[in-house]
Amino acid sequence: MRLFEADEIKVNIVPMDDYLDVLIDVIKNWSVSPVRLSGDEVLKQEDSLKKIKALKAIGVKYIPIIEREQDQSVRVSLDDLGVWDNVKNDGVRVYQNVLDLVAFDNPTPLVALKSLSTDRLKVWAKLEWYHPFSLSIKDRVSWFMLKNALEARLIERGKKIYEATSTNTGLGLAGISNYLGLKLRVYLPSTTQRCIDHLFTTLGAEVVRKETPITTSMLRAVILDAYRDGAIVLNQYENDLNFIVHLQYTAKEIDYQMRSIGRRPSLIVGGLGTSGHLSALTLYFKNKYGDVKVYGVQPREGEVIPGLRRVEHDMKWLKMVNIDGIVDVALREAFEGVLIVARGDGILIGPSAGAVAFAIKRLINDLDIEGDAVVVIPDHGAKYIELIQSLITATCPDTHDAG
Ligand code: PLP
Repeated sequence: MRLFEADEIKVNIVPMDDYLDVLIDVIKNWSVSPVRLSGDEVLKQEDSLKKIKALKAIGVKYIPIIEREQDQSVRVSLDDLGVWDNVKNDGVRVYQNVLDLVAFDNPTPLVALKSLSTDRLKVWAKLEWYHPFSLSIKDRVSWFMLKNALEARLIERGKKIYEATSTNTGLGLAGISNYLGLKLRVYLPSTTQRCIDHLFTTLGAEVVRKETPITTSMLRAVILDAYRDGAIVLNQYENDLNFIVHLQYTAKEIDYQMRSIGRRPSLIVGGLGTSGHLSALTLYFKNKYGDVKVYGVQPREGEVIPGLRRVEHDMKWLKMVNIDGIVDVALREAFEGVLIVARGDGILIGPSAGAVAFAIKRLINDLDIEGDAVVVIPDHGAKYIELIQSLITATCPDTHDAG
């Protein structure tokens, strides 16, 4: 058996539908039988191709290959294929360019929060504002979609990208586009804070404001504009790379971090926007460990929580996994979650993270669960100053309106 550098085998890992069954199998068994044959011949065999795609999606460094006459019954652990290499860090944190901050400055911190933990359940927060461009989980998605579009030669220098975003994917794309010499136009819904326009303008991105409060209802207009102008739409709502990047990084990072202290989560709670990150965590942890409960958080009907959407607005990846439940949270409750963490642990999380914090408090009351829980904190509260101003003056009436 030989180990081939996965990077040297060029296959397209999107769309994911055609190898999802093999991917699930690989995660469940955490091992694979080697791919038979070598060189180009491998790529002509459907089963081998699916296995290679699945291994590349989970992010191994090496693909095991055997020659035609060799025994294929042997199984190789993913641990022996360098599956953890992309989520390890040498700790020195010196990088040659800003893109490497997204690609290699992993994992993001995982920290226990006393404000959310109980005697029976320790709650670990995955702090996703530790990314350089959008200060949010969306840098991962922006970087992965752009990287792949460049590698597939869908975009060249000087070319324009159009994207519908509630803020964070746009900020990620804006920063990375600037570094790469690409141009960006973002389409923002009416519900995004007004001050966000200035962040985009500062970064040199073009901003189009739409009347609709729902990001996905702008998609058709974005695609038509892009077609007219010869621009590219990466489309985080449909692009499987939005799922795959969380499988390859976010999920594996959490597993790697928890394993390093001899634990694994019995409960995972996260917000739902595109459903990219929570669906990937569900697929990974439920298939690898089985006995993990996963809950998604959505805004209560008629409420707006930046970054989150309700499941009836169609979420591509949530349909592929078995989530245990969805928790409805009102904006005011999300802010209560922000206050609990801000005043108990001293960190200022964003409103979608506040919704997750509020939801896990409720789940701890409702479920008989113990051990360790992981909550994903998509971003920091500082970006939401406009929203915080309106919420804090109503919550704490003696707080003076700074305006
Ligand atoms: N929270 C914030 C602040 C976000 O920006 C997003 C997505 O844009 C989410 C949560 C939801 O993440 P996902 O799109 O992976 O479902």
